[in-house]
Amino acid sequence: MLSSLTQWWRRRARVPIPDPVWSAILRSLPWLRDLGSDELIKLRELAERFLKHKDILGAGGLVLTDEMRASIAVQACVPILHLGLDWYRGWYSVVVYPDDFIAPFEYTDEDGVVHSGERELSGEAWPDGPVVLSWHGAQGSGWETSLGGNLVIHEFAHKLDMQNGDANGLPPLHAGMSIKTWRDSFTAAYEDFCNRVAHHDDWLAFDAYAAEDPGEFFAVTSEWFFTDPRALRAQYPAVHDQLAAFYRPQGRSRP
Ligand SMILES: [Zn+2]
Repeated sequence: MLSSLTQWWRRRARVPIPDPVWSAILRSLPWLRDLGSDELIKLRELAERFLKHKDILGAGGLVLTDEMRASIAVQACVPILHLGLDWYRGWYSVVVYPDDFIAPFEYTDEDGVVHSGERELSGEAWPDGPVVLSWHGAQGSGWETSLGGNLVIHEFAHKLDMQNGDANGLPPLHAGMSIKTWRDSFTAAYEDFCNRVAHHDDWLAFDAYAAEDPGEFFAVTSEWFFTDPRALRAQYPAVHDQLAAFYRPQGRSRP
């Protein structure tokens, strides 16, 4: 009696992802094969709960299908696979444009004067607000696929970072993790990466956009942590280890 009630409640708290859709998502995101079979089951269930809790809305004329929503939900849930849906608390929607979109922005110059303007973006995460994505980017095309990036993981890593304020590259760490070790690891890697960008190093571990600020460095290294962890570990092992302590992956390819 209790178990059937529990099963009923669990089904009700999710939007099921049908088998053919799940298979198509696995084919479209080959790096998911790094996850263990238990992790894949958990990821599917988490994405089904994500679909129940968050509205994924088309904008700019985009009509979203259930398959498109499921693909975004699965990618969004990769960073919280071992953290839980509660890490995405406090906001309710994902807005998806067909392609890059124009967003207003403000910045303060060194004299304290506030300027405003517009810029073209493929993704944006608002503090306490929605995540905005380009569907073109969310499919992998147009988002540095040759460099292993992932737009959805990038924007949702910002959301985790924002759980304790600004997206500054320091999300709330788990008990037992050291803020000093995190800062030391990320600062050394960030400075090395910025140096390489400044000196037009021919070989960059990932997109030069990571040199924008420490918040972007965290988001870009998070993309790599999931899509090509070996490359990240080879270049910045201390950052890889801190991300492993934070995201707590258990896949078969993980050390
Ligand atoms: Zn970013």
